[in-house]
This record gives sequence, structure tokens and C-alpha cells, in this order.
Amino acid sequence: MLFKRTQPNTAEIHELTDLIQHAHHIYAITGAGISTNAGIPDLQHLAGRTSMSLSSESSLEADPQAFYQGFHNIFIDPIFNNGPTIAHQALAKLEAADKLSGVVTTNVDYLHELAGNKKVADIWYSLNVNYCIKCGRTYDIRVLNQAQPVCPVCGGLISPGPVYHHIGIDRFAYEQANRWMQDADLVITIGSNGYYSNVKPSATVVNINNARNDFDQLADLRIRGDADQVMGAVVKQLDL
Ligand SMILES: [Zn+2]
Repeated sequence: MLFKRTQPNTAEIHELTDLIQHAHHIYAITGAGISTNAGIPDLQHLAGRTSMSLSSESSLEADPQAFYQGFHNIFIDPIFNNGPTIAHQALAKLEAADKLSGVVTTNVDYLHELAGNKKVADIWYSLNVNYCIKCGRTYDIRVLNQAQPVCPVCGGLISPGPVYHHIGIDRFAYEQANRWMQDADLVITIGSNGYYSNVKPSATVVNINNARNDFDQLADLRIRGDADQVMGAVVKQLDL
């Protein structure tokens, strides 16, 4: 656990549920902080060298075994072993109840979709599209559930989507996110590091984070707390 858990404030939870009940176009922006409870570390907290080598296809080709060992530890094992967090599940419940129109995430872990969200803009690509570096075929997240994934057709190495794209921005998802933000009257930011922050000034912003961050300045309501505890309390209060 990277952060100390703090108990969310009841009045703040009530204020957030009230905003959710009265808003018409609600969107979430999520970042590393929503996935730390699934055991996926915030890459900012990892040594530069570790995250660098895991983001480069040349290190995959140089030493596939070492690359995938690191990649399993950081992403694949927590995704398959722990799955979506309570906060991810809460957002899926909100979408199913027509109280959430979309999620914009800078995470690549695909946990929003695994939780059941259908409208997700993965602006840094996701681990659900992975490329054979020999023949170019693509495979979904299940291909990563092997010690060292290889292409079942040609035996080539598999490059995880975000690595294949050099941790670049998916323009299509990014433009989708911007359209959503134009439509938003309520934006809930959860564990976001602020890498995506194109929020229009007229939208109400609620920032849920364990520590102070860039969204505090934009936020109409700041909730300092653990994503699971806050969002778990929110869906409970909404009876979802
Ligand atoms: Zn192949």
C-alpha cells in the first residue's frame, strides 16, 4: 500500500451523491490512484529505470524473459489476480444505472472494461490490444496471461499495446475524451495525476484523491480519501 487510508467524510460523500443525482452528463477521469488498491503501482513511484525499460520495445526484444517478468509483476499479475477495485466496480454500477456517460483514463490496465464499463476512453491505449511484432496480428488481454506471450500463429514476440505505441496518445480516444468533456456538467476525477485535464470551466468538478494534486484548483468539491472507500460509500448511498 502506497498511501495511508483515510476515512472519507460523510458530509462530502453526501454532497457528491447529491451532485450525481442532479447532474445529467456525468463523466469520470481516472488515473493511477484508482488502481493502486488492485496492487498496480503508480508508475511515478517506481524507479525511473524500471518504468523506462517496461515502456520500451527494444528492452522487450533484448531480453523478453526479463521484460515479461517485470511486466507480470507490475501489471499482468495484479490484473488477473486482483481484478477491478471497488472504485472500478462503482463506476461500472453508475454507468449501468445511467448515471455515468463515460470514463476517461490514463491507465492502461483495462480494469474499467473488466469491471463492466462500456464507455471508456483509454487515452494511452490499453493492454487489451497487443501486437505480434513479427506478423502484426493483434490479440486481446488474454494473450498476456502466459509467462512469456508469443503469437500463436507465427511464434513472434507480443508487444503490449501501450509499449507498441511507445506510451503515446491514442488520438481517437483523446478526441472522444475531449468531446465528452464538452458535454459534461459533472466531472469526477479519481486518483488522477492530471495528465488529462481538459475540463471545461462550466462543469462541476469533484476531485477524489488521497493527497493534494493539480485538480484541487479546478475542483468545486475535494474529497481527500481512498478511492475504494469513497466510491464504495457513494454507490451504497445511491442504493446501487
Ligand atoms: Zn505473429
